[in-house]
Amino acid sequence: MKIAVYQAQQFKNQFLNKRKSRSQANHVTQVAQEVIDAVYNQGEKALRSYIKQFDGSVPNELLVSDQERERAWQQVSERTVQALQNAAENIRTFHNKQLNQSKFMQHDEQIVSGQLFQPIDRVGIYVPGGTACYPSSVLMNAIPAKIAGVAEIIMVTPARDGQEIAPILSVAADIAGVTRIYKVGGIQAIAALTYGTESIPVVDKIVGPGNAYVAAAKALVYGDVGIDMIAGPSEVAIIADDSANPKHVAADLIAQAEHDVQARTVLFTPSAQLIAATKAELATQLETLPRTSIASEAILTNGALVQVSDLTEAFDLANMLAPEHLEIQLDHALSYLSHVKHAGSVFLGHYTPESLGDYYAGPNHVLPTSGTAKFSSGLSVDDFMKKTTFLYYSQQALATAAKDIVTLAEEEQLSGHARAVTKRLEVKKNDPSG
Ligand code: NAD
Repeated sequence: MKIAVYQAQQFKNQFLNKRKSRSQANHVTQVAQEVIDAVYNQGEKALRSYIKQFDGSVPNELLVSDQERERAWQQVSERTVQALQNAAENIRTFHNKQLNQSKFMQHDEQIVSGQLFQPIDRVGIYVPGGTACYPSSVLMNAIPAKIAGVAEIIMVTPARDGQEIAPILSVAADIAGVTRIYKVGGIQAIAALTYGTESIPVVDKIVGPGNAYVAAAKALVYGDVGIDMIAGPSEVAIIADDSANPKHVAADLIAQAEHDVQARTVLFTPSAQLIAATKAELATQLETLPRTSIASEAILTNGALVQVSDLTEAFDLANMLAPEHLEIQLDHALSYLSHVKHAGSVFLGHYTPESLGDYYAGPNHVLPTSGTAKFSSGLSVDDFMKKTTFLYYSQQALATAAKDIVTLAEEEQLSGHARAVTKRLEVKKNDPSG
């Protein structure tokens, strides 16, 4: 297999030294702007016309009916329902611990301040559905929203064959507590959630992964609506040495690569033997993979096996890459956690494949990509809450602070601000009307 092998410096030059510019308007952004403008101006009519154009045909009803949601439970095997419920339980347990409570800071009787943590009223969750079906994304997006206390969770996902959504998505939505599901995907779904149409309500924030069109649309509507992040192609970096099994390393690189042809897969290792063995394993395992054409293209175009001088260099490069997923396939892996500075989520040891996190164990699988783990984090309960600060001062406390506030207001030449303080102090005690 012709997967590229790099020395550390070559990898650095090729992948790490340049930040990509997002500002150049490309074709995808242009299409996204066109669709958003049309849905903004023409609502439902434009929504339906773009569903037809991009997805082939338009469902008679965009809303998944109660009957369809009930029927879905009969169409999914008991085994699958049980697996979804077990995964949901793990995700719930993990995310419950993230819930922040409002903070009251009582300085003394004269001053109270704090932060109210409150849920967003209505959120939209985008569940991708173009080339695959992702019930795990339903759980990962909706469960933290539910824990935050979001009152309405509106899910959008494209219909298969233009009419139905996969029953497993509907069952996952019920398990996770989704309020309503609409059969629409792509740019038009993001536009509809942002500006509303006759059938689809406006939401306050849109979360969830999707393809380049969905990401471009989210970037364009940001500001009119909240978004979680702008997701790029999925990535995994693996740090391993001779203690790792090349079969496991290759399997995990392939698991990432089968997502889409732009997925990035990187191995950092000081072991030339591991590189050679992983190369051979990749070729063998790809032969029998159903999505081999997608995975092979991803590995050939964006894959890299990087020979480093030692594990310190491996961690340095991984931190510069700031990958969405970082696997540490080393003995005593937990002791290396402190070496990680930038990564979306870390998978430690020889028996913690990324698939555990993708589906099941608890941590969220909606994670920062393309180096954005340097300044942002995976989806969490916090993404569904906002903080309102509050302040109470007594007359006496204001009098004590007045001199400083007036001084600062005068420095800014905002005498109206100063007067808002001094006027209050002219008033007699216990006479707020004066
Ligand atoms: P998708 O739902 O994101 O996109 C499908 C929609 O794209 C279609 O409904 C259509 O409306 C629109 N579209 C397709 N071609 C178009 C075109 N030429 N012009 C305008 N619109 C067009 O589903 P997908 O395509 O399968 O992509 C899913 C993505 O989500 C993948 O990249 C996958 O890796 C990613 N993903 C990420 C995570 C995560 O947690 N990070 C989880 C699951 C999936």
